[in-house]
Amino acid sequence: MKHLEGISLAALQKSVCHLDAGFADLPEFETAAPGVNGIDSVLLEAAERLRDNYPYFHPLYAGQMLKPPHPLARAAYALATWINPNNHALDGGRASSAMEKEAVAQLAAMFGWQEFLGHLTGGGTMANLEALWVAGRRDPGKTILASSAAHYTHERISGVLQLPFESVSTTCDGRIDCEALEARASNGDVGCVVATLGTTGTGSVDPLPEILKLRERYGFRVHADAAYGGYFKLADSLNAATRASFDCIAEADSIVIDPHKHGLQPYGCGCVLFRDPAVGALYKHDSPYTYFSSKELHLGEISLECSRPGAAAVALWATQRLLPLIKGGEFGAGLTASRQAALELAGHLTEDPRWVVPFPPELDIVVWAPRTPSASAASARSREVFERAAAQDLHLALIQLPLRYFDPKVFDADSDHILCLRSVLMKPEHAQWIDEILRRLEIAAFPVE
Ligand SMILES: *Cc1c(COP(=O)(O)O)cnc(C)c1O
Repeated sequence: MKHLEGISLAALQKSVCHLDAGFADLPEFETAAPGVNGIDSVLLEAAERLRDNYPYFHPLYAGQMLKPPHPLARAAYALATWINPNNHALDGGRASSAMEKEAVAQLAAMFGWQEFLGHLTGGGTMANLEALWVAGRRDPGKTILASSAAHYTHERISGVLQLPFESVSTTCDGRIDCEALEARASNGDVGCVVATLGTTGTGSVDPLPEILKLRERYGFRVHADAAYGGYFKLADSLNAATRASFDCIAEADSIVIDPHKHGLQPYGCGCVLFRDPAVGALYKHDSPYTYFSSKELHLGEISLECSRPGAAAVALWATQRLLPLIKGGEFGAGLTASRQAALELAGHLTEDPRWVVPFPPELDIVVWAPRTPSASAASARSREVFERAAAQDLHLALIQLPLRYFDPKVFDADSDHILCLRSVLMKPEHAQWIDEILRRLEIAAFPVE
């Protein structure tokens, strides 16, 4: 295999045999699964269909927030599907529930929590839903606030939960405007403020120390949505303000982090953590079917989702066993490398008068616009460069940013927004590929006719 790494396939086969040997005492049986003779041809057909994708696994895919799972995570996930445990109750997933508790405790410890309540979820959306659900149960009728650059999910989730939601403006670097936040919070009817530690669009980190100070004054809950940025807690070379936000994340009331974003996991792995384990009481329900095999905590007792993939927990557990979430470790070095790649790309683009970088990256996401006379011309040009880059196998992304993020001298204000180019440099390989990315961007944007 040339592009798709195959190291983990042999290890997977060996571990499946080892797992099988654990059940050697059972009588033999033939699988009654229908159609097994067709597996080969249908799987090849599926592979054929899957060729219709951008090459997300390749460093020249430098567009959206897509990071290949670690080879071990992929293998461990597949291994677990031979058992296919369900982490709802211990009856359905004994070993994988224990592994989930260990893996989640390691995530909590990364943020500085020894005592906490938490579990894996299908993703960041479900994890944030649980956090806002708890906020709404704790302070019924009060308003949820998030910045206008927060993930759209917060407004939609608040709608689902029937909690009042309002957005607060940002400063020109995509972070929540604390003056506007204070003006709104001083009404006294705010139940929870969402602090985004790493916005999905630009990787901007809300100033958590200031938000926590406002919490002291106005008494709202603080939920840290670190679905994207949470793992940067382990990165070196963050700027001082960004560092300060990650350094006090343990003071938040709840935290969301997505192992399927920067944590090297296949999709289907989010995580919600609560500082106060007593919120577990809010989840209380009586199930007539489950929870009989053990008096120990069944994860389904503290989760809104019922069935959950034990395989996701096994993959995460294995990844963290190989690459512990410790400062100065190999995993953290990967985050530092991503950030390095972003700084390097942003540095080149900032020096080049043909581009405009509105603000330097806080994490590993770079946004930039073509320098043109007007905002609308820049938008049209971004789209053109985006398409021409793809023809060079360089895959970028697009993002619409408010014009006020840019120096007012640069563009004629014939629109409130500018469509910009965006690159999420989240792969460990990206740091080595910046020159090649710039070379292809040059060919795409400024072809020599
Ligand atoms: C990705 C993301 C979400 C949504 O998470 P999913 O895993 O896509 O459901 C929420 N908040 C932030 C900041 C994100 O980056």
